[in-house]
Amino acid sequence: MPKVIHIATECYPAAKAGGLGDVVGALPKYQNQNGFSAEVIIPQYNLPWISEQTKEKVYSSSISVDNETIHFSINKVIDQTLGYALYFADIKGKFDRPSIYLHSDGKGFADEVERNISFQRSVLQWLSVEKYSPDVIHCHDHMTGLIPFMTQYSPDYHKLKDKPIIFTIHNGQYHGAFDWKHKNQLPNYDLKHNGLLDWDNQIHSLASAIKCAWHVNTVSPNYMQEIIENSDTLQSLYHQEKEKCSGILNGIDDQIWNPATDEMTYSKLKGSNFKNFKSENKNALVQEYNLVRRRPLIGFIGRFAHQKGADLLCHSIEEALSSNLKINFIILGSGDKIIEQKVKGLSDKYPREVIALIMYNESVARKLYAGCDFMMMPSRFEPCGLNQLFAMRYGTIPIVHEIGGLKDTVRDIDDGGEGLVLKGLKPEDFLYNYKRVTELYQNRTRLQNQIKFISQLNYSWNKSAQEYISLYKRYLKKVTT
Ligand code: ADP
Repeated sequence: MPKVIHIATECYPAAKAGGLGDVVGALPKYQNQNGFSAEVIIPQYNLPWISEQTKEKVYSSSISVDNETIHFSINKVIDQTLGYALYFADIKGKFDRPSIYLHSDGKGFADEVERNISFQRSVLQWLSVEKYSPDVIHCHDHMTGLIPFMTQYSPDYHKLKDKPIIFTIHNGQYHGAFDWKHKNQLPNYDLKHNGLLDWDNQIHSLASAIKCAWHVNTVSPNYMQEIIENSDTLQSLYHQEKEKCSGILNGIDDQIWNPATDEMTYSKLKGSNFKNFKSENKNALVQEYNLVRRRPLIGFIGRFAHQKGADLLCHSIEEALSSNLKINFIILGSGDKIIEQKVKGLSDKYPREVIALIMYNESVARKLYAGCDFMMMPSRFEPCGLNQLFAMRYGTIPIVHEIGGLKDTVRDIDDGGEGLVLKGLKPEDFLYNYKRVTELYQNRTRLQNQIKFISQLNYSWNKSAQEYISLYKRYLKKVTT
């Protein structure tokens, strides 16, 4: 069976900071079930799930990065239950820390460039060993964005030169661009190829990947269209490379995100009785957080970053509650300190209507997916968005801005669709939809029918896993002809 290796910095349940972890933790499992052998490698962080695993060291070596000798080993997880082989790159001094990207104060690690380069080089050195060499290399986001250049233009990895490389953009806003003064950290390469690393006079991981990968995809078709048409500094590049660009919609792991078996919710789904499932989980939430009873409950789960629109949400909540709309909100997230303060301020002012959960917590997130009536996603842009898919699987109606992957997955209920669509992000767009929320909530028959409809939709990875496999096969054919 042909083999693909996914190279990434997150993989659920080992390490997850957002949607990248969900995707890399699920897609390979479904590829294995669809006739293509898939494996994953991520850095070995000092995180609980990773520490608990029994691992087998399969390779060890060192790389020389800017006069520093960095020792690393590749460890394979023995546990077979993930549905794919998972490897860790244990790179001493770089990743053996208790978090993925950020210090506890929320700031990024100062040695991000060294970390990413050492990870990419260690992995390529390991994959150059015949017995570990894959047929296809699949890289995810800018942290692995220099790999397409390295395999094609560095003699150190010449054995990987003819391997098709697919690059997936999970979030095009993060570029991994850094100063040319770091170039000594790169492996040997012919300087005449400098242009393939450069964008705007920097070494630009994302731009280099777009130039050098055999195929580039985003995680929804609409987001690819959007960035080709409008994406600040990289627009001309996307335009130039558009023939090899496509969008493949993310799926969800419906075995892990299963309301009938989810141990983290207050109450599990019995049979197909969503009415009881929703009311049991909502009652538990209302009780735990002492919310006003018998009101629609809108949840928000996400990073407090400009992208996700939590600032706009806060503004709209203030407007809604001060104009006496009877809605409750639970907001789970962390990030931007100003937004954190805003969310806490709202909760102080309206303690029985707004709950602020300033944290990252998978178990709390699952309780919200199960117990909220609606899930709010006012993103300014959204490559795919997974929350709306998880929400629907748990019978929670999404409220989404009509953008990116949200547009590909949620149509408006008044057009026979899945949820409520915010046509814009102005205060009046929110207020209009809050009124629709209260109306829908009162119309119990329509509400129950909608819950039934969305909870039966199929967003499994099967279809998209097959799309990726077709893509791999297309490029493998090019190698052999
Ligand atoms: P992102 O841009 O952050 O990757 P996605 O919608 O693609 O957004 O995926 C977000 C994932 O992260 C989902 O699994 C969501 O449940 C999870 N998540 C986001 N914020 C939190 C949080 N504060 N606590 C727990 N899970 C979270």
